[in-house]
Amino acid sequence: MLAMQSVKKIYRTDMIETHALRDFSLQVEPGEFVAVTGPSGSGKTTFLSIAGLLESFDAGRYTLDGQDVSALSDAERSRLRNEKIGFIFQGFNLIPDLNLFDNVDVPLRYRGLAARDRRQRIERALEQVGLASRAKHLPSQLSGGQQQRVAIARALAGRPAFLLADEPTGNLDSLMARQVMDMLGEINAQGMTIVMVTHDPDLARRASRNIQIVDGQVTDFSLYEPAPAVQ
Ligand code: ADP
Ligand code: ADP
Repeated sequence: MLAMQSVKKIYRTDMIETHALRDFSLQVEPGEFVAVTGPSGSGKTTFLSIAGLLESFDAGRYTLDGQDVSALSDAERSRLRNEKIGFIFQGFNLIPDLNLFDNVDVPLRYRGLAARDRRQRIERALEQVGLASRAKHLPSQLSGGQQQRVAIARALAGRPAFLLADEPTGNLDSLMARQVMDMLGEINAQGMTIVMVTHDPDLARRASRNIQIVDGQVTDFSLYEPAPAVQ
């Protein structure tokens, strides 16, 4: 489970303080597919960066699978991130001169996993996204939708508990966006917890729960999750 309680994040640059998250609370249960929408600049990427242990925060409490994130050293936080979190981004962030197999291998090598374990993970992950037959292709030989599927495979190969996605379909035309959403739906159906930031309400509706962030706070829970009763 991923649980944030009254998390606050302030960016300080020269004279300016930006309150990116204020009193931000959210709980994501195992197996959920949460879509996060909200206006530009409302804090969606900040939330995802903190959730993914890429950014620190200024106040509040964040526990990831029972571990109090603020209590961890930098090294422990990196280890937790490598073990628990898979990321996909709007730009697919593939390495252009590595083939698909080697792209998926990058984070696994970084973690120091044995060659045989890595190979099994890579083959399984490329199968899961339907690209096993393309292992030797370069990213430039694939469509945008396929490249995003490689990025999904790279995340899955780490066998994370949470898949965090920041506008994963933002660079794709609507057909490919739908294919990537179908894939995320399948991965979620197999048990993966997914948190996805998107601008697109049509895509958001396909998640199991929608939340909206406005001005650094969660403002709206969809029909899927009844809003707390008003006293
Ligand atoms: P969103 O993803 O909803 O567009 P962000 O989380 O990127 O919003 O940004 C929230 C606010 O924090 C915005 O006002 C943005 O300009 C500011 N912000 C984000 N990252 C930084 C940063 N690294 N330094 C300073 N301000 C930032
Ligand atoms: P999006 O709207 O797609 O979430 P943004 O343009 O808000 O993307 O942010 C892109 C990146 O730039 C993020 O990593 C964010 O942290 C950073 N960023 C956003 N606003 C600022 C800012 N005012 N100063 C420095 N970095 C920022």
